[in-house]
Amino acid sequence: MATINVRQGSEGPSHDPYGYTEIEFISTDGEIECIIHSGLAEWIKIKVSQEMTYKIEDYKFGTNAQIFEQVCGISPHDAEKVDQRRRSRCRKCGSKQGEWTNGYPGESFLICVRCGNHMDYSFNESAII
Ligand SMILES: [Zn+2]
Repeated sequence: MATINVRQGSEGPSHDPYGYTEIEFISTDGEIECIIHSGLAEWIKIKVSQEMTYKIEDYKFGTNAQIFEQVCGISPHDAEKVDQRRRSRCRKCGSKQGEWTNGYPGESFLICVRCGNHMDYSFNESAII
């Protein structure tokens, strides 16, 4: 199973922050490492084994998302969904049932219905702007 990590944050000047999403993909054998960043800046970083390098040369066209998909075999969108599915399981009791509740404006928490553990957190900046 490949490793997928999704990071979300903000970048740009502090008075005008811009949200970004960064998806990191590491193949099962560790031969492919790919990070796609989309926000204020758009970039993609690909690290592959020596044997893979020549193949990657063919991929240098299309959008970052298309390159990501060709290299990793999964689109950034699907990678994000895989990550969300994994995180939507309670780390304490393994329950898949969570309920979203609101915190401060723009904040949402996914709370495990079985044990009350925080399963996930989301922040919607547009709610406060
Ligand atoms: Zn739980």
